[in-house]
Amino acid sequence: MEYQKIIDEIAREIKPEKFPGEVAEYIPELAKVSGDKFGIHMHCIDKGHYCHGDSNEKFSIQSIAKVFTLSMAVRQMDEDLWERTDVEPSGDPFNSLTQLEYESGIPRNPLINAGALVICDVLLSQMKNPRAELLQFVRKLVGSDDIHFDETVAKSEAKHGARNAALVSFMKSFDNIHNKTEDVLDLYFHTCSLSMTCKELAQAFMIYANRGVILETGEQILSGIQTKRINAIMQTCGFYDEAGEFAFRVGLPGKSGVGGGIAAVHPGYYSVAVWSPKLNPKSNSALGMRVLELLTTKTGLSVF
Ligand code: GLU
Repeated sequence: MEYQKIIDEIAREIKPEKFPGEVAEYIPELAKVSGDKFGIHMHCIDKGHYCHGDSNEKFSIQSIAKVFTLSMAVRQMDEDLWERTDVEPSGDPFNSLTQLEYESGIPRNPLINAGALVICDVLLSQMKNPRAELLQFVRKLVGSDDIHFDETVAKSEAKHGARNAALVSFMKSFDNIHNKTEDVLDLYFHTCSLSMTCKELAQAFMIYANRGVILETGEQILSGIQTKRINAIMQTCGFYDEAGEFAFRVGLPGKSGVGGGIAAVHPGYYSVAVWSPKLNPKSNSALGMRVLELLTTKTGLSVF
């Protein structure tokens, strides 16, 4: 299939500067990014690469990193992990506290903030230096050492992190956080501050399209069943309280972040990452969703 032609055609059809949406402002560092940025990178299982626009510019991947930390925790704990977090869509905003009260401190899933904070707690209990391990993990998936935390973003988020601090304290009261609150938050804010390009994200996400194996090196990172489970969680929980809409319009497992990025996979076929910082009211990249909808429609390649 002529993927490059299709991507160019989509880019001609959409106009980033005219697309509605607001750049995230609750983390001041993110508000500084131009809303007109747009990049896409598609990586196919036959090793083909196709891209357009600002696909080689680094941006804050925010919650997309939750898929990486989840993968690390699954590797460490396997089935026992599911005692600490559920795997159901939340239907609530990503930073909501309400469900935790009546579900005894067990987050709905590992891709909302509460769940990702529990995952950070797990990594702190299991590893000596989870921050360094995370960098090493993502660098290995991408095949590049040029992956870093953005300390300015991490600090900006820490300064405005009262809600995440509340989530940690609340779950501690149910004994579902075992480490110090400040250590959990520090790891969490750093994971959100990872800075990557669309190309790097598509390369890293290829393991979820390739049954847990790094395409370039053949190294098995996750088992087939672990990969299946992570993809299922991305499909049902990867887009805040808009996971149904994303499945309906795009039809791929994936994860979004408030930096305006979305990474998604079609297992057995391709991984793809888009970036456009203007968000819709549910905090997903408005243009990113539209572009992926056009991609799966024009190629006929979605999981449904
Ligand atoms: N760092 C953001 C927060 O905790 C992540 C939000 C997101 O991308 O969903 O608020």
